[in-house]
Amino acid sequence: MPTKPIDRLLFAQGGECFFCKQVLQKSDASLEHLVAQTHGGKDNDENVVVCCKILNALFGRMSLKEKLEVILKQRGAFGCPAQARAAIAAAATPSQGEVPLKAGSPLAVVVENLKKRGNARQTRLDKLANTIKTALEHQKLDGSQADKVLAQLRSKQWVQVDGEKVSYHLPVEKVDAGIHLS
Ligand SMILES: [Zn+2]
Repeated sequence: MPTKPIDRLLFAQGGECFFCKQVLQKSDASLEHLVAQTHGGKDNDENVVVCCKILNALFGRMSLKEKLEVILKQRGAFGCPAQARAAIAAAATPSQGEVPLKAGSPLAVVVENLKKRGNARQTRLDKLANTIKTALEHQKLDGSQADKVLAQLRSKQWVQVDGEKVSYHLPVEKVDAGIHLS
């Protein structure tokens, strides 16, 4: 039987974080006193669990009541801040199989043009279609592809259309489309 508290508790918890139930490597694990020792909590197995380091850091010197508040606010499966961070990182990275924007492609040209317009972007669908056509022709591309590019923008949800109104959620990564707005 492992004798060090962290090994013993990790074993007892089936190798999972006490709170979020994710598989926990010893290097990411730390001892969490449910009732903090500064609040009179005991330093024994009754009061100690093993959890993700980052969660332990979040709990810091909170009282047990405050910790429960944090946990209950999660609603549903409890997620560590560590998982939230990983999820954000995963969302920011293009998923596998997603083709990066090819520099100079009609789509890249239009995205870069729209980004440079910032708040001056068209908010009406018909105006946007014209902007796309002009942006393509400005780069000596075929303006008749404007509808196709608009469809791509919509399918990627970079452009969302509500009736005649348009809103933008353009990708953040830099696209070198070689555009010179003049
Ligand atoms: Zn955890």
